[in-house]
Amino acid sequence: SDRMVLGPLVGSIDQGTSSSRFLVFNAKTAELLSHHQVEIQQKFPKEGWVEQDPNEILKSVLECVEKTCEKLQQLNIDITNIKAIGVSNQRETTVVWDKTTGEPLYNAIVWLDLRTQSTVDRLLKRIPGNNKSFFKFRTGLPLCTYFSAVKLRWLLDNVEEIRKAVDDGRAMFGTVDSWLIWCLTGGKNGGVHCTDVTNASRTMLFNIHSLDWDPELCQFFDIPMEILPKVRSSSEIYGLMKMGALTGVPISGCLGDQSAALVGQMCFQDGQAKNTYGTGCFLLCNTGQKSVFSDHGLLTTIAYKLGRDKPVCYALEGSVAIAGAVVRWLRDNLGILQTSQEIETLAAEAGTSYGCYFVPAFSGLYAPYWEPSARGIICGLTQFTNKNHIAFAALEAVCFQTREILDAMNKDCGIPLNQLQVDGGMTNNKVLMQLQSDILCIPVVKPSMPETTALGAAMAAGAAEGVGVWSLNPGDLTAVTCERFEPQINPEESEYRYARWKKAVMKSMGWET
Ligand code: ADP
Repeated sequence: SDRMVLGPLVGSIDQGTSSSRFLVFNAKTAELLSHHQVEIQQKFPKEGWVEQDPNEILKSVLECVEKTCEKLQQLNIDITNIKAIGVSNQRETTVVWDKTTGEPLYNAIVWLDLRTQSTVDRLLKRIPGNNKSFFKFRTGLPLCTYFSAVKLRWLLDNVEEIRKAVDDGRAMFGTVDSWLIWCLTGGKNGGVHCTDVTNASRTMLFNIHSLDWDPELCQFFDIPMEILPKVRSSSEIYGLMKMGALTGVPISGCLGDQSAALVGQMCFQDGQAKNTYGTGCFLLCNTGQKSVFSDHGLLTTIAYKLGRDKPVCYALEGSVAIAGAVVRWLRDNLGILQTSQEIETLAAEAGTSYGCYFVPAFSGLYAPYWEPSARGIICGLTQFTNKNHIAFAALEAVCFQTREILDAMNKDCGIPLNQLQVDGGMTNNKVLMQLQSDILCIPVVKPSMPETTALGAAMAAGAAEGVGVWSLNPGDLTAVTCERFEPQINPEESEYRYARWKKAVMKSMGWET
């Protein structure tokens, strides 16, 4: 049969908290040609614990690659046009595996997991003044349950198998990018053990200035450095795919999902920002080649380093733990939704929360509070409140949380953002997007191709030295078409609701002490 001539294509693995995806883009036009998505199981073995099976993560990725390739072939597109593969991934989630068997030694501890609170408390006692910001200028991060170092410490303290594997020199640590790249490049038969600077910057073992693992931090957390992956830039050939339909294709891009979205939204200039609405919600603002430290609870993180000889760029980040996860909770735990999409109809039917406020502090509160003692509350209930109001309050909670981090960002940066670029699974929800614009009192702008995380990783992979099929010169980047949402309520109304929200947040704190 006739094959369409398209020029070079780039594949992109997007391994998120909720699902895995594989997407294929045209490197010249950035057009999305085909994709496949598989939802990932999350295990909650105990209260506050969140785990995933690393083998299920790998299998889901391979299934997505195979299914996407089949779809391309049905479209008469030759898959040998795929010249590179990029990886973007849920960050901080921690995997330890045995390099001789290729098998994980424990489930992946997901970023949202809270089991390490006692580990954190113990470590804090060894810091002058119990100061959780003690390593802020070296790592950009506060000491809390979120980052990989404490999860790894917990695994070394609590899993006999892992301790033994470390003693025998069989253990390897990695975030999800490392686990996937190691497996896909051959696993126990010569897989490449690496990570990129963006993922490394979320471990709390990484010095964001020297761009290397920090021996003092490794000593503080008592982590053996030989189990850590080699840190590479976000855009270079790490190795060749050794499995499935794309065997032989170089893996040449790697970015934590939030960094990937920043790249995919083309936020390459100082001061450009994006907010991604997935399981959690993450607002990142590019600060260029200088690291900026927040006085308002934001993190300093690595935005990207697009090539071995390219400069590193930093970002300020506001992280919200629970966004889409609250919708999934209404679906799975309360059963008031059949699908996540349904929340839009439910909320639209109500059109108001009727004074109900929902603070989904399931994993404590992240930015700007960093309060581990917070727990979820729904308040302001009356005889009149129904599931529609609660659905509305859940969406509104996502918007209020974004407002809090945007306010912090504006204070730290000095120049307020006059519009917000958005993406992620939840942005398909138009009610949410309108509500977001109403609560921020600024326009919300959504690219018509919302898969910006995958796009960013594809761009990094396609632009890598030795691949060179994607140009990152600003002039060559295709203009993006967008959908805009303008504020429709008056600012006083918005302020009133925001003030009520803050009151509800205060009520959620100090619960778990
Ligand atoms: P992640 O990258 O964290 O895996 P995604 O960007 O894939 O997340 O978004 C999935 C999340 O968004 C899920 O938590 C889901 O409940 C939520 N979600 C998806 N579609 C909608 C929708 N139309 N309205 C509200 N929430 C949604």
